[in-house]
Amino acid sequence: MFTIDDDGWLWPAAHCPSANFNERPVDAVIDLLVIHNISLPAGEFGGDFVQQLFTNCLDCKAHPTFAELEDLRVSAHLLIDRRGRITQFVAFSQRAWHAGVSSFHGRENCNDFSIGIELEGADTVPYTEVQYQRLAAVTKTLQRRYPGIVPAHIVGHCEIAPLRKTDPGPAFDWMRFRHLLTTAAAAAG
Ligand SMILES: [Zn+2]
Repeated sequence: MFTIDDDGWLWPAAHCPSANFNERPVDAVIDLLVIHNISLPAGEFGGDFVQQLFTNCLDCKAHPTFAELEDLRVSAHLLIDRRGRITQFVAFSQRAWHAGVSSFHGRENCNDFSIGIELEGADTVPYTEVQYQRLAAVTKTLQRRYPGIVPAHIVGHCEIAPLRKTDPGPAFDWMRFRHLLTTAAAAAG
């Protein structure tokens, strides 16, 4: 269903390039997928504020809670909205700024070797069916390109930054997601 071009862009997807990235370390092997959630304002869905945040054009006066986002420079590789629409901000080959201070099995700075996918959502609000479907399809595509992203290397932000982060939260159904990955694999032969 999806393909990744030589520059590390997903098709079909909307491409909304962010300046918030840098080069991965030269010896980096991409072998971790980090699942996040985000909504701006928190718990409100359907606006363009996340895209604006990731492209440094969010008006921090647009909502009282946005004041804390002033001068924040963040991004993710992908955002999957409530309707399953996918926007890519950073090429997979580049280092997006989604994980922050983080550690996976003793390896620090997970941004160096991971891909970050944001689900439009909140920790305790059920994700949509189409979000699970698209996330699973994209994950399978990423696993073909980056074979190091084995099932044990697909984690929530909360697992690599447990003192700071709770996303994707208890609403994310890991069993359902992982089951979709296995059925997608079977379907692909
Ligand atoms: Zn996160």
